[in-house]
Amino acid sequence: MSGCTSPGKCPNCETDVEVYDDWKPVNYSMQNCVNCGLVLFPAQAYETLETLNTRRVEHNEMMEDEEDWVPLEPYTQEEFDKIERTWCYFTEVEDERFFLPK
Ligand SMILES: [Zn+2]
Repeated sequence: MSGCTSPGKCPNCETDVEVYDDWKPVNYSMQNCVNCGLVLFPAQAYETLETLNTRRVEHNEMMEDEEDWVPLEPYTQEEFDKIERTWCYFTEVEDERFFLPK
């Protein structure tokens, strides 16, 4: 662990908690409350083709005023299947918007 702790509040019961922040392997924060038991920690997932393409459209809309912006094309299933998804560090989340590469 390479991070540091700082004082914080539980968002559920407002008890004082220690918040742990780290910057390795990426920036993240976690905390747990000894009063109500709320645990906040990072999770990870990879988006499905449909979700990712929707976000690429939204990203294009956000970037359209930028000079030199080359709009992102939606991925085809074939392009999507070729993306490497090997990074795994945090707890994996199951949700209909995501999938777990195996
Ligand atoms: Zn709490």
